[in-house]
Amino acid sequence: MGVFGAVGRMGATVCEAVLAATDLELVAAVDPLRPGARLADVLGAAAGAAATLRRVGELEVASDADALSRAGADVAVDFTVAAAARKNLRWCSEHSVHAVVGTTGFSDEDLDAFADWFGASSTANALVSANFSIGAALMMRCAEQCAPYFESIEVIELHHEHKRDAPSGTSLATARRMEAARSAAGSAPLPADPTEHEALAGARGGVTGAGIHLHSVRLPGLVAHQEVLFGSAGETLTIRHDSTDRVSFMPGVLMAVRAVAALPGLTIGLDRLLGS
Ligand code: NAD
Repeated sequence: MGVFGAVGRMGATVCEAVLAATDLELVAAVDPLRPGARLADVLGAAAGAAATLRRVGELEVASDADALSRAGADVAVDFTVAAAARKNLRWCSEHSVHAVVGTTGFSDEDLDAFADWFGASSTANALVSANFSIGAALMMRCAEQCAPYFESIEVIELHHEHKRDAPSGTSLATARRMEAARSAAGSAPLPADPTEHEALAGARGGVTGAGIHLHSVRLPGLVAHQEVLFGSAGETLTIRHDSTDRVSFMPGVLMAVRAVAALPGLTIGLDRLLGS
């Protein structure tokens, strides 16, 4: 296993989770932020458990992807930024390394390109998920089921103050799935926005093509949270999910790492790992 973005918040947490898993071996850590640093020092700063740190040995952070092929990694996990992840994914598809990608900020065109790169011409597979929390995957599944039955839908996503993209990949994925569910069920179009005067630009959030409003909150103290609000005459339903610690993403990441070799081509989201 190798990790792109190993010095970052998520990447370091993935390194710790892999080191704690007895059936996985961490052989490469890539991050241009601290090339040559001992990974043990990086993880030590993140308060890793002593047993975990012993397993990391003298592994050093590398600056480029070739460290993965030098170390013989079969699977790479990427938690970086979209621009870097595009290059890392291309590299994985060309070097027969399966990719598990948590980085967010990809467009539909990006996902089409990934499907192409990891298509018939590549021996590597990729699993891309905007959210590796199993609770969030179930939240999206519930939202999809509820979407056809309400007149109106809005989403509020709340994240830590360092998040660079907005709205979150999870909120966009949730909206896409709800729109598809409404379309498949033949639901009426979502109502037009009643706002006639916006005293502050952006007050109604971003709006998807089908009319779902997405609102982004950024605050220190938050990790990753989302509310999906459904409304019909006389009733509302709110589905809320909270990741209160980055470790909440690790069971999903490890599940994907173990499964990706058997999932040909590009897989999007965790649903196929959760029995649907
Ligand atoms: P971060 O800024 O803490 O870490 C990103 C790291 O990537 C940095 O250390 C940076 O130096 C490194 N990096 C940049 N370019 C690189 C390259 N070419 N090769 C290797 N490393 C490179 O960010 P974070 O909070 O860890 O989040 C990373 C990504 O994961 C973001 O896109 C975020 O939205 C996403 N995220 C996804 C989930 C999920 O469940 N899918 C959960 C949380 C965060």
